[in-house]
Amino acid sequence: CIEAGLKDDHFEAWLQPIVSLADGQIAGFEALMRLNHPEKGLMPPGKIIGIAEETGMIARIGDQILEKAIRHLAAISELDGTQNTYLAVNFSPLQFELTLPHKLAALLLKHHISPSRIVVEITEAVLMLDNPEVHSVLKQLNEFGCRIALDDFGTGYSSLSYLNRFPVDIVKVDQSFTRSLSSGTADLRRKSRMLIKGIRTISHQMGCTVVAEGIETKEQWQLLRKLGVDCGQGYLFSRPMPVDRMLTMLESDSEAKAASAPSMRA
Ligand code: C2E
Ligand code: CA
Ligand code: CA
Repeated sequence: CIEAGLKDDHFEAWLQPIVSLADGQIAGFEALMRLNHPEKGLMPPGKIIGIAEETGMIARIGDQILEKAIRHLAAISELDGTQNTYLAVNFSPLQFELTLPHKLAALLLKHHISPSRIVVEITEAVLMLDNPEVHSVLKQLNEFGCRIALDDFGTGYSSLSYLNRFPVDIVKVDQSFTRSLSSGTADLRRKSRMLIKGIRTISHQMGCTVVAEGIETKEQWQLLRKLGVDCGQGYLFSRPMPVDRMLTMLESDSEAKAASAPSMRA
């Protein structure tokens, strides 16, 4: 399926909005890979990425997703009020080749997108390699004006020291923290709030923006906002969707805003 998908163009870059928790406005979009197989239907990335990494096909998939996602951001940028939104793209360790900064620069030039609107999402798997090539690519991306997000923060082997050893701009608090804010005993929920507050404080002191993942309820949104988390994403705001549907949603949102504006002024 992966090989056929690469050949016959079945890979899609779906988008999920990332909103500012203060006002619910869209700050950016995360590109999430989907394999839309003509017979088997839609396949989420979980299993595909593991196999693609083992077989080395992840590089080609990554290239297709990157190109499509940037094209989608260019299409979104045609709409009013979206010119400052950013695009976050997930990268596997195997995509950190020395050619990446040039490849990205060429795509951005082609689609008239500023590098400051691109966020490169990596997990500790990239940083754990502690490979000079990875260091050099991250440094170049940072100098070029892209931002780096550390994904799934607080789980696995994500070490606090990564925040000062690498040019990290955004810390993405793992979904499990958001979930634990509103499940389990009162004591567990209180401890989860403390953990998020701690991550937020350290991240802000290191100059990083904090994004919470997996927000599904209004209660989680309000709690995270009160804990000083800057942005968030999750089913409460929107599920990931193909670009056509995203464009329709953004258009109807902006029409609704325009329609309500005169009465608000009145
Ligand atoms: P991730 O980067 O942590 O992405 C967030 C995952 O959480 C996505 O799963 C998203 O659909 C899901 N999600 C978003 N909001 C909610 C929510 O409110 N509740 C719950 N339960 N889930 C939510 P998805 O799309 O299945 O992606 C899984 C993982 O696959 C991603 O986790 C990322 O690590 C990887 N991935 C996705 N696209 C790509 C890609 O293009 N390249 C690479 N290398 N990895 C990718
Ligand atoms: Ca991610
Ligand atoms: Ca994540």
